[in-house]
Amino acid sequence: MSDCVFCKIRDGQIPSMRIDEDERTLTFMDINPLSPGHCLVVTKRHAPTLFEADVEDLKAAAATARRVAANDGKGFDWTPVPGDREAIMKTGERLRAALA
Ligand SMILES: [Zn+2]
Repeated sequence: MSDCVFCKIRDGQIPSMRIDEDERTLTFMDINPLSPGHCLVVTKRHAPTLFEADVEDLKAAAATARRVAANDGKGFDWTPVPGDREAIMKTGERLRAALA
């Protein structure tokens, strides 16, 4: 997809700090990190939305995220950046209600 930023990163048209790559996924550092280890795992195959992504690609992305986090040495125990607690709680409540 020519206008997709992630495809452009995948294809090297946009520079990135790649930290991992396999047949189905690409992992690179986030340009606006929320924590020191904030990186993105994307599927190499373009998918406009989660619902259009190949399930096997999603499985691979989850496995890659786990492997990358495990090798970070901190896992997911990264120091969070202070956020708007009230906004976070409201969003959490809305999502919890939607999932009920
Ligand atoms: Zn894409």
